[in-house]
Amino acid sequence: MSGLTTTGLTKSFGGVRAVDDASVEFLDGRINALIGPNGSGKTTFFNCVTGMIRPDAGTARLRGADITGLAPHRIARAGIGRSFQLCRVFPRMTVLENLLVAVRPRSPLGALKRSAQPADVAKARDLLTRVGIEHLEHVEGRDLSYGQQKLLELAGVLMADPDTILLDEPAGGVNPALIDRIGALVRELNAEGRTFLVVEHNMDMVMSLSDHVVVFDRGRPIAQGTPAEVRDDPRVLEAYLGV
Ligand code: ADP
Repeated sequence: MSGLTTTGLTKSFGGVRAVDDASVEFLDGRINALIGPNGSGKTTFFNCVTGMIRPDAGTARLRGADITGLAPHRIARAGIGRSFQLCRVFPRMTVLENLLVAVRPRSPLGALKRSAQPADVAKARDLLTRVGIEHLEHVEGRDLSYGQQKLLELAGVLMADPDTILLDEPAGGVNPALIDRIGALVRELNAEGRTFLVVEHNMDMVMSLSDHVVVFDRGRPIAQGTPAEVRDDPRVLEAYLGV
């Protein structure tokens, strides 16, 4: 079944067509990957489907419902959560506060501390345990390693209970042990029914983790299929290796 689909999605910056007439399908309930060389439009595509950028043309649908051009909070409410290539962790808030702010982004920190809902606190602690950083609850964001920040950001995404999760380079800049841990978490969350869309440069991770791969080159999807189908596609080799 189709999860997130786009038809003719297009976004230009000046003369550059960052996303160019992209019609793609990501499968509901599966782990999907979006790959492509640097500058091929992956981030712009992510930004268009999460409402950070308004596309110039085309549509985006989530399980059939049109989400094109909606504000980010409305797209989040429709069930899409996302992480960022460079983590978004507040450096002067503790790990727990970072999660509480994820559910009430507009509350000042003082108000947040006074009025934190016990249910939110319990949920935040469960998620910290889930991602394996419960012992860091009182540590400030600035004192976390980069890998720990990635895990905190994933927990933050999960606070909103999204059924579709977009991860921007989850393996980028983290050590191999943590890459394995993040991969295992993605598999676990997927087994519980969550759909993933992962932008990732680490090909080993992409090939071992995903069910369905979409390849972008110069803003356009040039191949879509299983990891094996995509790996053997001459257009993909050409895009990556210039052969
Ligand atoms: P990727 O994520 O695959 O590396 P991007 O979506 O970041 O690709 O970029 C696609 C193209 O669009 C690149 O040529 C990039 O320089 C350009 N681009 C992306 N964002 C902007 C922007 N805000 N302003 C101008 N050009 C941009």
